[in-house]
Amino acid sequence: MASKILRAAILGAPGSGKGTISERITKCFGLKHLSSGDFLRSSARSDPEIELLAKRYLERGYLVPDHVTTHLMLEKLKSMGNQSWLLDGFPHTLAQAEALNGIYQLDLVIHLNVPFETLKERLRARWVHLSSGRVYNMTFNPPLLRGIDDITGDILIQRDDDKLEVVAFRLRQYKDITKPVIDLYSLIMAFLTFIGTTLVLMLMNSNKSFQR
Ligand code: ADP
Repeated sequence: MASKILRAAILGAPGSGKGTISERITKCFGLKHLSSGDFLRSSARSDPEIELLAKRYLERGYLVPDHVTTHLMLEKLKSMGNQSWLLDGFPHTLAQAEALNGIYQLDLVIHLNVPFETLKERLRARWVHLSSGRVYNMTFNPPLLRGIDDITGDILIQRDDDKLEVVAFRLRQYKDITKPVIDLYSLIMAFLTFIGTTLVLMLMNSNKSFQR
């Protein structure tokens, strides 16, 4: 069967489950998963300039400026060559979407639309394994041992930007800034919205094979 390169993105507010769903899709189809948040955090650990930005923006829940995020993400995508990928968290703003669209034609955008009250609860209960990006929820997806990553045994942390005061700000910011991106993609391409708190992955039944 001929293989095709798939370019896809998943949009959703903080806590909407983008990371979890992306992991399932990328495992199932063998795509590369590129999370802008994880990528910015890991870049900050190896690059002092980005570490400064992380302290100024990421930890406080502000978006990293468009020109920085776009440059880093487009360079990363370039280095990935002809692989199929799923973007998670990028594009987040109209300027980022326009920069991405100028270089890549997306095949599919998935939008997770989860009620804001649910998002707030989820973010407050979220703990992460920082180096892998693995996410746990103390209510419905806890680790086997409290505070410990199942795979590596490392300590889990609660991100500074998941703390109560920052969460409400991030959710408001998402609503204002990402709505135009959602509007744009819903008009110009294959666009799937999943509303509510459960997601049935219809994609699982697809028999297409994608280039890895
Ligand atoms: P969540 O999992 O809660 O959606 P992410 O891990 O995607 O959060 O992002 C965490 C932080 O990283 C954001 O609050 C922001 O500071 C920064 N960030 C991630 N993606 C972008 C982006 N596309 N543009 C600007 N900042 C971003």
